[in-house]
Amino acid sequence: MDIDLITLAYDFAKTAHQGQKRLSGEDYISHPLATAQTLAELKMDTASIIAGLLHDICEETPYTLEDIDKNFGREVRNLVDGLIKCKKIQYRGLERYMENVRKMFVAMAQDLRVIIIKCADRLNNLKTLSSLPAEKQKRIALESLEIYAPIAHRLGMAELAKQLEDTVFPHLYPEEYQKLVELVKSYYHKQKAIINQTKKILEAEFKKAGLNIISIHGRAKHLWSLYKKLTLNGNDITKIYDLMALRIIVENKSDCYLVLGLIHQLWRPLKGRIKDYIAQPKPNDYQSLHTTVFGEGGNIVEIQIRTLQMHEEAEYGIAAHWHYKEKGVKMVDKKLEWVKELTRWQKELAQNQKYLDSLKLDILKNRIFVFTPKGDVIDLPEDSTPIDFAYHIHTDIGNHCVGALVNDEIAPLNTKLKSGDMVKILVDKNRQYPSEDWLSFIKTRVAYSKIKSALRGKPGYVTRILKLVKLK
Ligand code: MN
Repeated sequence: MDIDLITLAYDFAKTAHQGQKRLSGEDYISHPLATAQTLAELKMDTASIIAGLLHDICEETPYTLEDIDKNFGREVRNLVDGLIKCKKIQYRGLERYMENVRKMFVAMAQDLRVIIIKCADRLNNLKTLSSLPAEKQKRIALESLEIYAPIAHRLGMAELAKQLEDTVFPHLYPEEYQKLVELVKSYYHKQKAIINQTKKILEAEFKKAGLNIISIHGRAKHLWSLYKKLTLNGNDITKIYDLMALRIIVENKSDCYLVLGLIHQLWRPLKGRIKDYIAQPKPNDYQSLHTTVFGEGGNIVEIQIRTLQMHEEAEYGIAAHWHYKEKGVKMVDKKLEWVKELTRWQKELAQNQKYLDSLKLDILKNRIFVFTPKGDVIDLPEDSTPIDFAYHIHTDIGNHCVGALVNDEIAPLNTKLKSGDMVKILVDKNRQYPSEDWLSFIKTRVAYSKIKSALRGKPGYVTRILKLVKLK
């Protein structure tokens, strides 16, 4: 981590946001700072932390992407650019909005760091949620629960995902939240005492055995995941054994098994609750040993044992991978695994969505995502042109198209569009037929067949084609 550069970025952001306030009344800089702090806790790389500090500069201050490029380089500039593109999505009805956000996330996944920074930004924004109008509060809370948190889970960032969930829980389900808090209060208290007692006994045992332990601590189950588990278990809190669990972090894999052995010599394990996720990792690569034992006084305790690296990957997911990458530790084939995971996710998503057909054959990398002036996301095949875009919106817009603005600038109709471009089609009602030339550069079937069928109505077109055929 380059502390000097991060300090420079902080000073830059602080000066740029000078005098601005958040809705909550705090100085504006507190928001980018908190975002960067979350990213640092996730052990993200220097570029991401700097992008976190600068992410609101372009919209809130006179500084531009070029300024960021000049001062902090292309990598940071591109990250901030990705974040700005995410914000172009506008809200016009919940269902449509959610679909746009999902598509956008997939498009931005070309650099997964954009998603991680976006999640950190969102987590911090949620803390000032109460200062927004009720309607907007609900929408942002729902979006965080249904889109941001699942994506964070998908990317293995359990800790961030759970923080997002627990922050919006009281906003979305205030009564259920209140009830749950009441319910767990006494249980947590009792369980905490048991965990502390267990911890003391184990610490002494490990010392006797000469085992070096990195950390041994209790962890309380997050409220939202508890709520979901309770709903599945007929609301019987006595059946939830990991309300508070004991977590033991050791130096290496063989120590994990040594610790498990020691524990089982002390206390009898519950049948069917010993899980070796080290030998058989979960589908999301989670690794750990789990056991539940009848501890002191017959109290049931869940214990999780793992190495530090397993722990960091479980908590921070792909964020941890950047950490190891920067530290120079080789993460063999891990990168490929994220891509696999993302592609899998992409497929599942497609099955739930109406746009199944458009995504079935082309994988992510062959699609681009462009915006309408109203902020809807349109996905098209790579190398699509404004004409493809126009026909995708509506046949009439295609047929009457006389020009295009790409990112507010006049662009030739055969321009190859890029992800994130905002496209506005200029139409002229007096234009009656599409141009035959368009057929030579368009990329989509839809545009092709619509142009063909419009041309068939053009006086003289059919006879001219017939003549051409006869000449051959
Ligand atoms: Mn922000």
